[in-house]
Amino acid sequence: MKARYQFRFYPTDQQQQLLAQLFGCVRVVWNDALAICKQSEKLPSNNDLQKLVITQAKKKPERSWLSDVSNIPLQQSVADLGVAYKNFFDSLKGKRKGKKIGTPRFKKKTGKQSARFRIGGFSIKGDEVYLSKIGNIKPVWSRQLPSEPSSVTVIKDCANRYFLSFVVEVEPIQSQAKNQSIGIDLGIKTFAVMSNGEKAISPDYSKKDRKIRKLQRKLARQKKDSKRREITRLRIARLHNQIADTRKDFLHKLSTKVVRENQTIVLEDLNVSGMVKNRKLARVISLQGWREFRVFCEAKSEKFNRDFRVINRWEPTSQTCSCCGYRWGKIDLSVRSVPCLNCNTEHDRDENAAKNINKVGIGHCHDSKRTWRWSKTTSVASVDEASKITHCP
Ligand SMILES: [Zn+2]
Repeated sequence: MKARYQFRFYPTDQQQQLLAQLFGCVRVVWNDALAICKQSEKLPSNNDLQKLVITQAKKKPERSWLSDVSNIPLQQSVADLGVAYKNFFDSLKGKRKGKKIGTPRFKKKTGKQSARFRIGGFSIKGDEVYLSKIGNIKPVWSRQLPSEPSSVTVIKDCANRYFLSFVVEVEPIQSQAKNQSIGIDLGIKTFAVMSNGEKAISPDYSKKDRKIRKLQRKLARQKKDSKRREITRLRIARLHNQIADTRKDFLHKLSTKVVRENQTIVLEDLNVSGMVKNRKLARVISLQGWREFRVFCEAKSEKFNRDFRVINRWEPTSQTCSCCGYRWGKIDLSVRSVPCLNCNTEHDRDENAAKNINKVGIGHCHDSKRTWRWSKTTSVASVDEASKITHCP
């Protein structure tokens, strides 16, 4: 299976200029090719497109500067557009799992920029990466590449940070899990409560959130296209990045632990539609966190040969006793602890839900004639609705 390995790097001033030029050319080639696709009734072939927007365009005075950069990322840009179209058509025909995707869009000058080099356009020598017509780059190697990469994408994000993102082939890891299975209940106050009683508290983003809101008010007052406005924009982008980095770090650690230790991982499908309406940042962040956590768990389950399951959110996981199966019905969200009237067990609400999620996930039916209506568990790949939620923007 394929995996991405990303490393930060710090280009020299000259490399920054060369990269800016390259990003610009890649963007123009993409946009020119997209404009042609949008006008034509039948999608032109990759070859024809390349001829039109690269080879022939270079001869025109208004596009002659395309010759100044490496040809490989330009060809890749056209090829990537082809893939974007294929994904769109596959999605239309229902051949592609996950959320419906739209038609490819024009790339903008502002925001994240990228250029992709295939073999032939880049090479790794020692701890340096050579990029065609850009020169040698020394990334911060935070870990070792497991195999020879097949491509590298150069990225400049909205906070002006530079990254190299390699695509490599990785083998699934064979390792024995400590426990058979785990159910996880995701929430806002406590990020995750596990069926074994463990809890994971989400990092606190409120300080940075307040700073962002303050800066956004400032940004709204500043003159468009002014230098000061650009500075404020960068500061906001950096804060957003810091929040995202903290969140990702937390989610990576948690998902790795969960997947390493358990053979079967069961999550509950989330009622996202009801939550998106609430625009409070805390909710937005936890929402992103849930989606990411699920994506991470799914990917790592593949990596570690684990079984990853998602159960239907209509399962009454918070309304039923995980010990005896007695169903007490709906209880208010503010009630954190529930005594079971049948077996007298005092339950922590979330832990009880996690235990039930685990039970439904592994399909153990300890008291079917009572109140449980066991529904089929489904792997994510086959559930359209489930994967929709994973891929929502
Ligand atoms: Zn009970």
